[in-house]
Amino acid sequence: MNTKEFIKKVKNKEIDIVEHTEEVIEKARNINKRYHLFNIISDDSAIEQAKTLKKEIKKNNIKNKSLLGVPISVKDCVCVNGVESRAGSKILNGYKPVFDATVIKKIKEQGGIIIGKTAQDEFGFGTFSVNVGVDFKIPLNPLDKERSCGGSSGGAAGISQIADFPHIAIGESTGGSIVAPASFCGVFGLCPTYGRVSRYGLIDYANSMDKIGTLGKTIEDNALLLKSISGHDDNDSTSINSESDEYSSYLKKGIKNIKIGIINESFGEGVEKEVTEKVMGGINKLEENGAKTEKVSLPLTSKYGVQAYYLIAVSETSTNLAKLCGMRYGRHEELTGNFNEYFTKVRSKNFGEEAKRRIILGTFTRMAGYRDAYYMKAMKVRTKIIEEYKKAFKKFDLLVSPTMPFIAPKFSEIEKLSPLQNYMADIMTVGPNLAGLPHLNVPVGLSKKMPVGMLLIGNHLEEGKLMQVGNIFNQ
Ligand code: GLN
Repeated sequence: MNTKEFIKKVKNKEIDIVEHTEEVIEKARNINKRYHLFNIISDDSAIEQAKTLKKEIKKNNIKNKSLLGVPISVKDCVCVNGVESRAGSKILNGYKPVFDATVIKKIKEQGGIIIGKTAQDEFGFGTFSVNVGVDFKIPLNPLDKERSCGGSSGGAAGISQIADFPHIAIGESTGGSIVAPASFCGVFGLCPTYGRVSRYGLIDYANSMDKIGTLGKTIEDNALLLKSISGHDDNDSTSINSESDEYSSYLKKGIKNIKIGIINESFGEGVEKEVTEKVMGGINKLEENGAKTEKVSLPLTSKYGVQAYYLIAVSETSTNLAKLCGMRYGRHEELTGNFNEYFTKVRSKNFGEEAKRRIILGTFTRMAGYRDAYYMKAMKVRTKIIEEYKKAFKKFDLLVSPTMPFIAPKFSEIEKLSPLQNYMADIMTVGPNLAGLPHLNVPVGLSKKMPVGMLLIGNHLEEGKLMQVGNIFNQ
């Protein structure tokens, strides 16, 4: 049963929404025992929500409830009223927001049911969801437990893959955290244009790049949820003042004469052979369906994207995390010593290793004397990268590359990677994130029984086109 059929049955009262939600919670619990995809399953509040919804359905009060009863999982970094929201970090243990993030408010208004908070790299710091916070469990890929779900929205992608009930996930991306795990778990993942979706109530990683987006088994599910959460928000000054499209209308359009640029630099050294083959197969399929393809070169993005991204990301995040010191914000410890001693104690105990690495790096790149050499330089490179993309979009509707250079790695392989090798894994995804461009992961086949993902990148505000093209791969 797809989501549309499910909603129809709920509307027609063929499905009791309270019973259904209870079943889903039970299933989520069982899945979680095996794969650790949730940090929290919000059973009480989900059932409470279902009961309220049931009353509304009885009264036929369901106008504008486009998500009627659909279970929605939420990445841990998005605040849900009354539900512990920690962005995967021990330093936020016990934090229960007293408000809903704008996206959550919208989902609830439209009848979606929040079933829990999904596992992630601490504050989004990673590509494999192995950099979880102190005392958190690493999510396991449901297609092979020895492999990573991808990150940082690992739990979101994992549950999207394994759920045998109607479900759509809320993820978040700063540098690729929606499409990377979607690629490793074989689902569709859509990161919208920067500003398309309000960030109010998102626990920040790097504000100038953070985007809330969606993951799900089908393009329709992504279209449905994105439509529900996008739009201007007075609470987020960076949210765009433009009407959100009727995304589902793009799904019927076909792709005749759509112009697609194949990013030259993304098929070379470091990309697994079978990944290249499957993505090429995907491109052939687009051509068979009438798209016009041509090679395009993005030399600057390929050469400097990762460096610029990591400099900007760590600079922004080190300032964001400064407030978490156990005084006003963040977990309290026994108050001993002077301020420096207390601050050091709280942060040493409660931040994981990667968070500490990024705080140190980011503090360095912003320091007087280094700021111009690193942070400012990276910002200039970012502008150049945006210009490079804008030039490409004068000619093309969309750009295409592999999403990740390899299939989901085994945990034993990840252990051997240096931090630099870790960061290089993001080479395909950091570009569109630096430029605030919408992008979509499309599953295009298997290699060693694991999914291969193709990345489609669109011009600003052209999520519709991504769905139009991605829909060719919807099964
Ligand atoms: N892997 C990238 C990083 O570690 C992107 C993570 C993200 O998008 N949150 O920064």
